[in-house]
Amino acid sequence: MRNDHSALGVATTLRPVSPVTCIRPHAAARAARFFSQKFPGKVLYAVKANPSPELIQVLWENGVNHFDVASIAEVRRVRAMLPDATLCYMHPVKPAEAIAEAYHEHGVRTFSLDCLEELEKIMEATGHATDLTLCVRLRVSSGHSKLSLASKFGVSAEEAPALLLATRQVADSLGVCFHVGSQSMSPQAYADALAIAKTAIVQAGVTVDVVDVGGGFPSIYPGMVPPPLEAYFETIKAQFEELPISYSAELWCEPGRALSAEYSSVVVRVEKRSGDVLFINDGSYGSLFDAAHVNWRFPVRLLRETPSQTKTAEFSFYGPTCDDMDFMKGPFELPADVRPGDYIEIGMLGAYGAALRTDFNGFRSDKTQEVLDAPMFTAYGSDAEDEAQLALNFAKTAE
Ligand SMILES: *Cc1c(COP(=O)(O)O)cnc(C)c1O
Repeated sequence: MRNDHSALGVATTLRPVSPVTCIRPHAAARAARFFSQKFPGKVLYAVKANPSPELIQVLWENGVNHFDVASIAEVRRVRAMLPDATLCYMHPVKPAEAIAEAYHEHGVRTFSLDCLEELEKIMEATGHATDLTLCVRLRVSSGHSKLSLASKFGVSAEEAPALLLATRQVADSLGVCFHVGSQSMSPQAYADALAIAKTAIVQAGVTVDVVDVGGGFPSIYPGMVPPPLEAYFETIKAQFEELPISYSAELWCEPGRALSAEYSSVVVRVEKRSGDVLFINDGSYGSLFDAAHVNWRFPVRLLRETPSQTKTAEFSFYGPTCDDMDFMKGPFELPADVRPGDYIEIGMLGAYGAALRTDFNGFRSDKTQEVLDAPMFTAYGSDAEDEAQLALNFAKTAE
């Protein structure tokens, strides 16, 4: 393995001045194969988690052929790369112009909605198309999740039956969808949401063709170790089979985080130490928005050629901008002797990390380096097939 083909190698041989994103296509490929082989239905990648073209290509090549897009820019981006992909426009509040462009120019046939006005807008913008799959977004609880998605979108239980009925009149294919919140720590979240869907379907008395359980599938972070993903899939399958829907109805899911978290990490440099606070060169305006604003605890490790022998201590981070808010409380566990000039790898930043970077204060860094070492945590185990893939990737990049 060439030295710069691991995060440690990136730090010790390149000694980068700006943060470097280490990408791991092998880890994203493994996640995509896991979902496409084990989820008992169709898998849509939620592009907002990480819209990197390299990642989208890896997912595509490993069995994920459907994409949940939420803006016209995401529609254009994925369509330009993948003419044969199925795109589903799952934002319940869309500009009419975006709907029209998606339908007429990019072949999008699936849209979500959570009110009558949006239904009318979709019908008008598509010229009253008769080939639409329309998914009614239901409001469900985010009670089992680390990041709520419960208050902004979704029709209430009271209003759902009428909206389902109205949508059934014009849809070629009728769906229900929801989002249980991101990083859902229990399969029960999906069982609860599917119970809400069941009530709405029974009350409306409509035939439903698609049940989309959304995103929320968890990854592993310090202090957040969820049950295995198989347990989620089993619960969803069992509850799906209890629904009063046609035998040919389809089950869909829209993972963002779970398909992308392990794809990348960031190698940062310590510029200053002040007690138990480290000034590092990436922060809340870079890849660490969630660490700063929702106190997300990403895994960290010190990258030294000769590993430190000191025991660990807890640290907080300041980012590089001049803003006090550019602060990541953590705690992040690192050897107690960490010092300026040291490099740190911050892991599991493939989801909602790179995607949230800004140019603020001139500190944006888009430098990336493909590496072959393992992600800091994995929800996907390892098997012989992965070893083989790793070897293959290595052979390719070593050329
Ligand atoms: C954000 C989002 C997703 C992805 O959620 P994750 O928690 O990252 O899996 C899926 N569907 C919709 C509609 C979303 O808004």
